[in-house]
This record gives sequence, structure tokens and C-alpha cells, in this order.
Amino acid sequence: MSLYPLNETHDASRKSWVATANLPGCDFPLQNLPFGVFRPRSDWRSKVGIAIGDAVLDVSGCLLSGLFSGDAAVAAETCSRHTLNELMALGAQYWSALRARVFALLAEGASERGTVERHLLAMQDVEMRLPAAIGNYTDFYASLHHARNVGSLFRPANPLLPNYKYLPIAYHGRASSLVVDGTPVRRPHGQIKLQEDQPPELLPTRQLDYEVELGIFVGPGQPLGEPVPIESAPERLFGICLLNDWSARDMQTWEYQPLGPFLAKNFATSLSPWVVTLEALAPFRIAAAAREPGDPPVLPYLYAAEDREQGGLEVALEVLLQTAQMREQEMPAHRLSLGNARDLYWTPAQMLAHHTSNGCNLQPGDLLGTGTISGPAKENRGCLLEMTVRGREPVQLPTGETRSFLEDGDEVTLRGWCERPGFVRIGLGGCTGRVLGGR
Ligand code: MN
Repeated sequence: MSLYPLNETHDASRKSWVATANLPGCDFPLQNLPFGVFRPRSDWRSKVGIAIGDAVLDVSGCLLSGLFSGDAAVAAETCSRHTLNELMALGAQYWSALRARVFALLAEGASERGTVERHLLAMQDVEMRLPAAIGNYTDFYASLHHARNVGSLFRPANPLLPNYKYLPIAYHGRASSLVVDGTPVRRPHGQIKLQEDQPPELLPTRQLDYEVELGIFVGPGQPLGEPVPIESAPERLFGICLLNDWSARDMQTWEYQPLGPFLAKNFATSLSPWVVTLEALAPFRIAAAAREPGDPPVLPYLYAAEDREQGGLEVALEVLLQTAQMREQEMPAHRLSLGNARDLYWTPAQMLAHHTSNGCNLQPGDLLGTGTISGPAKENRGCLLEMTVRGREPVQLPTGETRSFLEDGDEVTLRGWCERPGFVRIGLGGCTGRVLGGR
């Protein structure tokens, strides 16, 4: 029995009275209803809103107008806060009740339209903030294609380490340097070895990279010492966003052994502002990626029949690059890659079950990154390190420029969306960051 069965809120025949929500290619149709934290330009306070077309619904404003009751009202009450954490803590019953009611309020023919309209703001008139106060951030390495491509660059004879197919590899990331879409990223300095046989110097990185990932937000917390069984993992997950794990490859190569990534990754990690709920994603759940012949069986604590059958996510992920020269010439951003989260080797439920298997606790708003999402083909490679084979095969851009790694002025945009026949396309919006020169 699925936690989120298909219901009226997934019905493709329903439209919104917010006209822009019905346009083809809109990321935020009636069937999506993602949550984010916004600040009206006219106000100093932030609060929780829901995206619909090119507008943001002020949920707590609607509550004051008496539009919610029961569980939906309990959920709406948390939307006056400046983070999603309290809403995340409530659990699926409350998120679902709020979604069902907002769907009804924004659907064509809603009798409350006149009241609801007073609580809609144009997206261009609000500033988006980070969706949550993120206490902990863990970045996984769940794409087998990525692990294999990167591993073969550094250990050609032995690209996959022996643990890879037994456990979802991860490291604890830095929560304080998570930034929201639009925040510029300054080129970091770090210890870099210019010559293999020379000592390192403190220099601006020459190998700045992006990584296209999904961020997964934890909903209700979990006490210390109590693992989450994999069967219960889905109810602990609130929703997903786009995540760009900016990386300095030359710093990483020198520092990562023996304890893993440190300063090569914690200078900035960008998140998209809208969190798409697991319920909105219900039509786009698919079987977990098939394990390869000869793979070891999954250990029991990482196995659930339902997770194998529908624990995967079908989310297309696109990376776009616009250089300073492209902006000057008014050229559109250039697509660097197109991948899909369906290619992940480990599911979100497996990541969560593994994370808590030792009794590690969870807090509402904790963030899991999937790791770079790459697929089997060259055009699916989710970072420049893989795509340019560590800089050896630079990308050609329409301006005639080439890129082995990112240059100052480059702007990277991640986009994500879900499509399936019989359902309305939903999107994750965008996650953009521009590279500034090092100080
Ligand atoms: Mn990463």
C-alpha cells in the first residue's frame, strides 16, 4: 500500500483559475503545489507560500481569511513561520490535507476565488529564501554511473570500491554554506598542487565544477538510537529540490584522502527555492534501478518489496551554462547535459534507512543530497569532471569558447521536471548561480 495513492490532486483534467498555471511547460501547475519561503518586496518578514503558475499563494493569509479547517488549518498555521521546518515536522497526514484544500481553492470553479485572489502575489514581487533551517546536510554518492566514471579517472584499474554495491556512500556536508538559487558563488582559494612533485600553494581553484543533484528534505524527526526501518522511510521524507554541489576538483584531489571531501565542497552548495512534495511526485515514482547481474543481494535492512517496485524517481535533470560572452551577445544558455534521477543506484528510502541504521537521529529540515546524477550516455554526465574527462576533452560552446572547468562570469542553471503520459508535467523550477572571481 503506497503512502501516497493517486487521488484527485493528480487528475490531469483539472485546471486552475490562475491562467499561467495551465500554460504548457509551466513548472507549477495545479497538480504540483510546491512549498517555499518568500518575502514580499514590500515587507521584511518571510513566510511559507505555495507556487501556482507565475504566482505565490500566501497560505497563512488564507488561514486568516477562514479558508482552512481541521488538519489543513493545523498545517496552514505553520505557514506564518519563516522556514518550512514546523510544517515538515507535522507529517504526511497534515501535508496531504493542506494540499487537498489548496488544490480545491485554486481549481477552476472554486467559489472562494475572490477571497483567495487577495492572497496571491506575483512571483516577480517576492524574494525567495532557503526553504528550511537546515540543521544537517548529508551528501550521498548514489549514482553508479557517476561513481564509475569518476572512479575510472582516478583508479582506472579499480573504478568501483568494494563497498559501493553494499551501502549508499555519503559524507557529512556543511549546512551553513547552503545558499538559495540566485546567490553568487565566489571562486574559492585552497591548497593546490600545480606540479605533482612540488609542494602545494594557496591559490584560487583552477578546476571549479558543478554537480547536478536532487536535495531530499527530511520531514518528521527521529530520536537518537532508533533506526528508521526502510518500510517507514517514505513517511519521513517531505519533498525534493534541485541541488548544485559546487566543487573545486584540484583542491579535492589533494585533500580528500583519507577522510573525504572538506574545503573542496563546503564553500557553497546551491538549492532551488521550491520543495516539490512526495505526494506531488506520486505519479512519477518508478521501480528502483535494476541491479546488475552478479551484484550482491541487498542486505535485508535496505530491502523492501515496495521500494524495489516504486522507490525510484523519474525526474529529468538539465544543466545549462551561460558565459559572460554569451550574455553580452544575448545568447541563450547552452545545455551541457540532460540526465534523469531514475538512473540512481540507491533510492531515497535506502539512503534514509542506511543513514539511521546506526541510530543516527534526524531533525525536521535535514537535507540529503543524492550525489551527482549521471546516466549511461555521455550527454547524461552530471558534472564537468566527467563530461570533459578531467579537462582533457573540453566542451565546445556556441560562441566558439571552450570549457574544461568553470570560468569567472559563468552562470550555471539546473532545471528539473517530471513527465508521464496521462499526467500533467510538473517542474522543480530552477537553481542558478554565477561564478565570481576569487578575492
Ligand atoms: Mn556531490
